[in-house]
Amino acid sequence: MKFNCKSILFSLTALLLAVPGYAQFKLPNTHNAQHKDLIAHQRPAGVAAKSLSSMSYLEDLRKREAFQDNEIFTEYWESQAVNPYKGIEIPATANIDVSGYVAPVKGAVTSRYGYRARFGRMHRGLDLRLSIGDTVVAAFDGKVRLTKYEGRGYGYYVVVRHDNGMETIYGHLSRFLVQPDQRVRAGQPIALGGNTGRSTGPHLHFETRYLGVDINPEAIIDFENFVPHKDVFVFDKSVHQVIQKYKPSKVKRGKASKRRGKASASKKRKKSRRR
Ligand SMILES: [Zn+2]
Repeated sequence: MKFNCKSILFSLTALLLAVPGYAQFKLPNTHNAQHKDLIAHQRPAGVAAKSLSSMSYLEDLRKREAFQDNEIFTEYWESQAVNPYKGIEIPATANIDVSGYVAPVKGAVTSRYGYRARFGRMHRGLDLRLSIGDTVVAAFDGKVRLTKYEGRGYGYYVVVRHDNGMETIYGHLSRFLVQPDQRVRAGQPIALGGNTGRSTGPHLHFETRYLGVDINPEAIIDFENFVPHKDVFVFDKSVHQVIQKYKPSKVKRGKASKRRGKASASKKRKKSRRR
């Protein structure tokens, strides 16, 4: 037999009326569960009244609640590190909604993502041309996690964590227009471009990361047309994490690869001359 609160209340009242004097009742477990469920679904009266009058209000409310409850902005949030996720288990794949992308600056790509033989290190982002003082905007909706300075690297830089789970990093800035914990929308100005840190000319160093794993921004975004390639970017750990850790010194060198090594070394020299 199925109980609901009303019928239980009714029968309780009937019992209380029927049994004179003092009596104690133990409610059935089903009632407790139903009661908790009812309480969990209750909203303050004012909120319910407003949501009835406007569907968009309801939608907004749902979004805001989702944002407030979102563990994206609480877990690994307090870290001061560029990668706050170090050591965590990275899922094999993830679908990331990148449809809300807005170009941080509308400048040409001046240096690509990847290993730089010339400096013996990974370039974990992409460089975009700008002039000092140009406005740099947030690439997606999100919340500012860090605004910091690193003299021998990023210079003045901003790290924004996004609703879609990614983090973006903006380096070599001249001025911040936001502060940590500030909510930002895609396209909202967050800083002015510059030439601070390890930089040989005004540009924006732009990184796209998922759970700390840097992803070639060009895998996600078409930088000629300032739009994402697709609305949903499919993150694949086996691809992106391998690229991230790649260093020629770590490649096993057999006889065949030694021969190839000569050829690739001259290729690399050509590449570095082009920069
Ligand atoms: Zn760079």
